[in-house]
Amino acid sequence: MLPQAKLIGFSLILNLILVSGEPELPAEVKLPDEQLASYWIRQAQEQLQQRLARLRDSSPDKRRAKNVVMLLADGLSITTLTAARILKGQRGGGTGEESLLAVERFPYAGLSKTYCIDAQIPDSACTSTAYLGGVKTRVGCLGQSASGEPVDSLMQLAQRAGKVTGVVTTTRLTDASPAGGYAHVSRRGEELEIARQLMEEEPGRNFKVLLGGGLGKFADERRDGKDLLLQWRQTNPQGCYCRSLTELKNCSGNGSLLGIFGDSHMPYHLAATKEQPRLSDLTAAALEKLEQQSRVNGRGYVVFIEGGRIDHGHHETRVGYALDETLEFDEAVETALRMTDPQETLLVVTSDHSHTLTMAGAANRGTSILGMDEQLQRDLDGVPYSTLNYAVGKWQSSDNAGRRMSPKKKLSPTSFTPSFIKGRKGVHAGEDVVVFAMGPQAHLFGGIMEQNLLPHLMSYAACLGKGLTLCNQDQQP
Ligand SMILES: [Zn+2]
Repeated sequence: MLPQAKLIGFSLILNLILVSGEPELPAEVKLPDEQLASYWIRQAQEQLQQRLARLRDSSPDKRRAKNVVMLLADGLSITTLTAARILKGQRGGGTGEESLLAVERFPYAGLSKTYCIDAQIPDSACTSTAYLGGVKTRVGCLGQSASGEPVDSLMQLAQRAGKVTGVVTTTRLTDASPAGGYAHVSRRGEELEIARQLMEEEPGRNFKVLLGGGLGKFADERRDGKDLLLQWRQTNPQGCYCRSLTELKNCSGNGSLLGIFGDSHMPYHLAATKEQPRLSDLTAAALEKLEQQSRVNGRGYVVFIEGGRIDHGHHETRVGYALDETLEFDEAVETALRMTDPQETLLVVTSDHSHTLTMAGAANRGTSILGMDEQLQRDLDGVPYSTLNYAVGKWQSSDNAGRRMSPKKKLSPTSFTPSFIKGRKGVHAGEDVVVFAMGPQAHLFGGIMEQNLLPHLMSYAACLGKGLTLCNQDQQP
């Protein structure tokens, strides 16, 4: 029955197109063509040729990564990726499913296993220690093993190799994901100490670019009397400190770049003012500055760029925010692709952990991803359900007696997404997350990987650290 209903829906769309004579869908969505076998065969053959051309360019890949750009989408599950792709296409007026995210141009992808030493389902601190420090640890631990040994992050190794480094995030600069690049603490909540380490210790104090939120941790909230911003200005006399998009654009000098946009996390893009830089603005400013700074010795740069608020949208079970933040991240990936040369820059895009968003039912092609297909998606009692639901979250769609009700009236992308199980908030999920790679040695990022393998692969490609690298492999026993 369902496939039949699908066909009816499909032919309705087709009739609309045929009757009006004008396709109502944009040029990129050619539904009539999609009905022909030749369309899909031609598309697949073109994609096969693109893949073969990539191999011709790079095999055997002896290219060393001069620069490494790691882009981290906090909480980006595969469902989030698919739903954001559809939203992107639907915002552009298409049916959505055929749309492309920037990461889809990456030639290699694999999966990363996100568990931590003591957790089946991890947090953003132990995962950051894995994907930046190369070591799995306990939940909440940053930059140190479960037994307390400090571990060198990718940024530390890059600085030892003479590369310039930077950190960009839409969360507080002292939040778990960015802090894995420079801090060593057993509890991620110690953000005042994390801020101190960022400004006073290695590798933090050597960052040429620091862009994010969390002003309070550097000045007002401190109880030790330190003004870490003043300290930064004193140690970076040539540096530029900015607090708005306009100020960021005016930071064109020769020194380091520090931008702190707000007391805590930066606002969601959907709630931001025009003076708030977007993640793509931060990415562009960071890459420009790192390129400039690395020209001094010609050794390149390593940068960590985080779209940190996808996770927050999911915790609030407001899927509209999570998906919009994913599209903001997509713009940042696009910016990184545009501003780097794949012959010398390794781009790695991944997530730290998943979230419980599901995409369920039998919705017709082109159904609003933030809405529902009332006809095709009904439970045993005949009550409709939305396509996107969370397993656990704060809102259920039920009446006072606890019976399921149609979520149709309440469904609002930024204020109500239903959950199956009532919880205080949305929770992380434990399945693998995707890793995308492009550039020198990108072919190593395939199959299923332990999350802590990632910085080892990046170090191999960029010849960092004391382990096996592209540059020393011939001397290894
Ligand atoms: Zn989280």
